Amino acid sequence: MANTITPHVLLFPMPAQGHLLPMTKLADLLSHAGLYVTFLATEGVYQRCFLRDDDDRGDQPRFRFRTVPDGLPRESSRPFVDTLDGLLGVVGHARGPYRELLASSRGGGGGGGGEGELWPPVTCVVADGFLPFALDVPVEMGIPVMVLRTSSPCSVWAYCCIPELIKRGEVASPDEPNLDESIQGVAGMEGFLRRRDLPGFVRKAQSADDPGLQFFATCSANLTRARALILNTFEALDSPVISRLRDVCPDVYGLGPLHLLGRNVCSTPSGGDSGKLWREDRTCMAWLDRQPDRSVVYVSFGSITVISREELLEFWHGLIGSGKRFLWVVRSDLVAETSADEKTETPLELEEGTRERGCLVGWAPQEEVLAHRSIGCFLTHSGWNSTLEGVVAGVPMVCWPFLGDQYTNSRFVSEVWRNGLDMKDAGGRDVVERMVKAAMDGEGADELRRSASKLAEEARESAEEGGSSYLDYQRLVQQIKSLSS
Ligand code: UDP
Repeated sequence: MANTITPHVLLFPMPAQGHLLPMTKLADLLSHAGLYVTFLATEGVYQRCFLRDDDDRGDQPRFRFRTVPDGLPRESSRPFVDTLDGLLGVVGHARGPYRELLASSRGGGGGGGGEGELWPPVTCVVADGFLPFALDVPVEMGIPVMVLRTSSPCSVWAYCCIPELIKRGEVASPDEPNLDESIQGVAGMEGFLRRRDLPGFVRKAQSADDPGLQFFATCSANLTRARALILNTFEALDSPVISRLRDVCPDVYGLGPLHLLGRNVCSTPSGGDSGKLWREDRTCMAWLDRQPDRSVVYVSFGSITVISREELLEFWHGLIGSGKRFLWVVRSDLVAETSADEKTETPLELEEGTRERGCLVGWAPQEEVLAHRSIGCFLTHSGWNSTLEGVVAGVPMVCWPFLGDQYTNSRFVSEVWRNGLDMKDAGGRDVVERMVKAAMDGEGADELRRSASKLAEEARESAEEGGSSYLDYQRLVQQIKSLSS
């Protein structure tokens, strides 16, 4: 009879907000299923996201945190990765300690910490798909690895097609490309995908050995070495893309929307600061309570986007021009510093001029905001988590993508799911005003709302007992258990 070792999963997210939150939800789900869970965070992220006086997320009998160095200055205002170089810096600091942690776990040391606790060895790693070394190290040691890709499945598939795109001469050109040209070579997306809609690193690449292009090609090739690919999506939303990805990695799990599945399975309330890089300012909820139904535009560009002061003002004028009420997340680091001594806080005219009809916060309880009856549309950067949160809330979107998969996500919103409008590559005040008016009460607004409501219903069904994401979660737990026998 086979010897069974207690299943113990180690999860290793990339240190960035959009990666930490879904990995945290996945960790909660696996812990809820009775598995031992080690959550491996980089030091800066651990301190800022989880080590707080008011956070009850300490170590528990079967759930613990471990950290690896990130090499970032202790008090860094951005203790996360937002560039390829930043990521490579983290790899240099984290790789060795990560290997030691796994080796100590396999050697009976419980996996670091030295408290003498009796933790079983790590039997499975869930590695962030943007951290190739998080997969390489356990593979070399013979530990099974699954990959979580926190970005959209449509972008994961587009990245998988990089070799085909290069072969066809569709990308990696030193010439000024025509962004409106349709793209051939991403199977299933011919007809509506333009060069403009390719993920950032792909549409920008000037040669086949562009470091960004190569990095994403490596991440895609790694999928063939993983035991399974875990996606934050659900069948009804992404079934054609999920089918394609099954040809790359045979076991694909759609567990999304993870925040909804987590809420259903673990009964955890939505929101809260755990896993968040900024503290939520909840004062905006009282402001929303005072607004009429579907009257407010919620504006948020996620955690990484940095815009110029001019762009900020264009958005502001566009919002004021639309005549709509708005709640806008203006992070302390949203506006780029152009010179060392230039002041970058929210311009005073914006603070003053907003008071009548708007509300500004540094960081909002986004899931709760989107679910509020007063929200009429979501002006978003189309980060994948924000997109799914908008889908769950059934709120039409106006998309202004900034980097990475956001370019592809916004195209899917406008052309495939039809729950929003795409204002990609255009951010002037007139466009903002026109798009916001169109999504709130323009000619096509009812149609957008109908599509958004249908998607919300499908998301709800997927995450309920018996739904596709719920069943995939149960299947995933079984697979993880089977890896330790
Ligand atoms: N978020 C939040 N409050 C804010 C802005 C963002 O809680 O004021 C959360 C949002 O709900 C989402 C995450 O931060 O879960 C951002 O992830 P996303 O993938 O949308 O974008 P990224 O930050 O990675 O660009």
